[in-house]
Amino acid sequence: MAADLIFPPTCILCGAPGDDGHDLCAGCAAELPVLGRACVRCALPLPVVAGHGDAHAHDDDGPLCGDCRRKPPAFTRAHAAFRYEPPLPTLVAGFKFNGRLNTLRLMGELLATSLHDAAVTRPACIIPVPLHMQRLRERGYDQALELARVVGRALDLPVVAACERTRATPPQTALERQARQHNLLGAFRAAADLTGAHVAVLDDVITTASTVGEVARTLRRAGARRVDIWCLARTP
Ligand SMILES: [Zn+2]
Ligand SMILES: [Zn+2]
Repeated sequence: MAADLIFPPTCILCGAPGDDGHDLCAGCAAELPVLGRACVRCALPLPVVAGHGDAHAHDDDGPLCGDCRRKPPAFTRAHAAFRYEPPLPTLVAGFKFNGRLNTLRLMGELLATSLHDAAVTRPACIIPVPLHMQRLRERGYDQALELARVVGRALDLPVVAACERTRATPPQTALERQARQHNLLGAFRAAADLTGAHVAVLDDVITTASTVGEVARTLRRAGARRVDIWCLARTP
């Protein structure tokens, strides 16, 4: 592309020439914290158990964390490309708060590659976790929606804003676990009939499974047969 000659791909982390048309060099790409061993249900990173056996229960596809074993979430599978460890917080802040769209595009492409490599089951569409209008006004753009658009283009899947927020909720991280659950009750509503559909809900970072769990419950109530969660990074 002509634009590549004028603005050649440059690594957003170290400034070296980008690799393979991406704004990331091969060295920095190799050091990104890929998710690795994790709960197949909620993508929570799990320690690698050395030697004999495995401390974690399994379902057909892999290990399950204690929470998912005790109380399976409303979603079927979660896929995260990375653990939320350096440099992910810097990269996410770059597109979330500083409007760095080249970072957002790169992160979306890396998530799409990760989903492709993991051979995840293809959903009918991608549904971004909705940002409340008030935050949208403050921030100017909706990072989950923009990320979903990049992933949707790369994987040839439609993006449908089929979930809406009914009210603003305080940031989940500021609340205790029980308060989090309560805080989310009725916070979302489905904006489409999803009868029989398999859908993937997309968010940038998953810190706890409670927000995406509530979104999944809402979509299941709207008829979705299966809800999966796709995210860029998962907090250990
Ligand atoms: Zn680099
Ligand atoms: Zn889990």
